[in-house]
Order: sequence, then C-alpha cells, then structure tokens
Amino acid sequence: VKKSGRGQLRFYDPAMSAYAREALVIDGALRGAIAAGELWLVYQPIIDARTGRLDKVEALLRWHSATLGHVGPDRFIPVAEDSGLIIDLGAWVLAEACRQLGAWRADLPQLAMSINVSARQLLDPAFISLVEQALADHGLAPQRLELELTERVLIGNGEQVRAALARLHDLGVSISLDDFGTGYSSLSYLTQFDINTLKIDRGFVTGMVDSPRSHALVATIVAMGHSLGMRLVAEGVETADQARALDVIGCHYLQGYHISRPVAADELLRFAASRSGG
Ligand code: C2E
Ligand code: CA
Ligand code: CA
Ligand code: CA
Repeated sequence: VKKSGRGQLRFYDPAMSAYAREALVIDGALRGAIAAGELWLVYQPIIDARTGRLDKVEALLRWHSATLGHVGPDRFIPVAEDSGLIIDLGAWVLAEACRQLGAWRADLPQLAMSINVSARQLLDPAFISLVEQALADHGLAPQRLELELTERVLIGNGEQVRAALARLHDLGVSISLDDFGTGYSSLSYLTQFDINTLKIDRGFVTGMVDSPRSHALVATIVAMGHSLGMRLVAEGVETADQARALDVIGCHYLQGYHISRPVAADELLRFAASRSGG
C-alpha cells in the first residue's frame, strides 16, 4: 500500500493479478476437461453417528489436467463460478453422481447422494429439469438426492432461491446447508429457507474436544437443529474423541477423515462392506 497525493490510499496488489493470471490459465484448461475425460468424482462416506452405518456419500469433484497436473476444487471451482463454466461442470457432476448411484443399485440400494451446487447452477432456469432428468435416467427416487448449498448461494437472491428450493422440495429432493456457521448471518437463513440438513463446519468440530467454548457452540447448533426438525452432519471429524463427543450431544451424522477420506467408487464398496459387518 502506498500513500498517494492527498492522503488517499492506493493499492498495489500483485497477488490479485497473479490470481487473475492463474484463473485465466485454469479456465482455459478446464474448458476441455469434460471432453478430455480429465474429471472424476470421489465419494466421502457420511455415517450414522450411533450405528456407524453408511447412509450417504458426498460427491467431490477431482481434476487431473493434461497441462496443469492435479488441480484441487478449491482452486478451480471459484474460477468456473466466475466464468460460468460451473453450469456445464455442475451438470456433469449431477449426471455422473446419479449414474454412479444407479450403478450401485444392487450393492447399496438405500444409499443417498449429496452433491455441491453453486449459486449460478441453482439459479439457472434449466437446473430443475436437469435434476429431474438425471434422476429419471437412472430410475432414482428423488429422496436419495441431496443438494448442498452454502450461505453464499442464499445471499442476495432470496426470491429466486426460495422458488428454486420450493420446486426441489416438491420434487422430493433434500437441501442441506453446507459449512454452517461460517457465513455472515447463518441463523437468519434458517427461518427464510426450507432446509433439511445442517452441515456443521469443520472449523467448529476441530476445536470441540479441547475447547469448552467450541464444544458448547457445536452442542448449541445441534440442539437448535433438533428443535427445528433438521438433520445434523458434522464435517471434518478427524478423531475418535470428536466422533464420540458428537454422538453424545446428538449429532446424527459424521463425515471426516476419521471415518474415511473421499474415495473412488470401487473403494466405497469395500468401505460399505467393512461397515455392514460382512
Ligand atoms: P466442501 O463442500 O466443504 O467439502 C468438504 C471438503 O473437506 C472436501 O475438500 C473434503 O475432501 C474435505 N474434508 C473432508 N473431511 C475432512 C477432514 O476430516 N479434514 C479435512 N481437513 N478436510 C476434510 P475438497 O474435496 O478439496 O473440496 C473442496 C471444496 O470444493 C468443497 O468444500 C466444495 O465447496 C467444492 N467442491 C468440490 N466438489 C464440488 C462440486 O462438484 N461442485 C461444486 N460446486 N463445488 C465442489
Ligand atoms: Ca459440501
Ligand atoms: Ca462443507
Ligand atoms: Ca467448504
């Protein structure tokens, strides 16, 4: 930061142009990624805290670029959201996740699938019919699909979002609020939008065994979720102590490295087999 003439601040931010440059490179490479078969999904188990049963998986996008190597979703999803490419990527994720759920029909007939949805996708006029199509293509009951939205999706598009959520609910698809507690006004969303599940952000879960305050906060979120009739998922569960503490306070579902990392489709079957006591 440099001071200019009349005491105004001028910003020289080389990091910003570096980001812009990187975004351009990523966007260019990502444009061909679907056609080149460079994308795949991994699936992270979400288990019942009480029984340990595998109830649901979260589909997470992976990309190995021929030119850039492995690029994580934290780097390429924001770029795709800015460029609009997320519409195509998101449609691919939806179709692929439903295809996989269909392929698991015999082995995991009850499994639910959770997928991450960006604002631009949800607000895209074609989105609802894409969802219907993906379900119909693989003969899946809508109850087996859950869409994860972050607060950023809800911000500023109130009416449109409410309308989209209402149609999804009519269809029978569930909605979950991702990274709960990290946004600006998390609580107000709970009255404004019809949400089935809260995913408690990893940031709160990490501290809950050592910090009484974090523990109290998570317990309060869980109690609130209960009284609102919501399901609760704890994200980022990394230790057995955290898993126990979450079960004690009544959190329904657990997700995190302690249970399993996100895994490829065939590996998920092995995980499921190990959980069913067989
Ligand atoms: P998210 O939706 O909050 O997903 C959870 C992230 O936490 C994943 O990172 C997951 O691998 C990681 N994680 C899970 N358990 C643990 C744990 O115990 N400890 C730690 N440290 N991390 C854990 P990932 O796969 O790199 O995804 C990052 C973000 O990218 C996601 O955050 C989501 O916002 C976005 N993303 C991923 N796939 C998609 C997609 O298909 N569509 C959209 N729109 N966004 C996606
Ligand atoms: Ca998520
Ligand atoms: Ca999350
Ligand atoms: Ca996140």
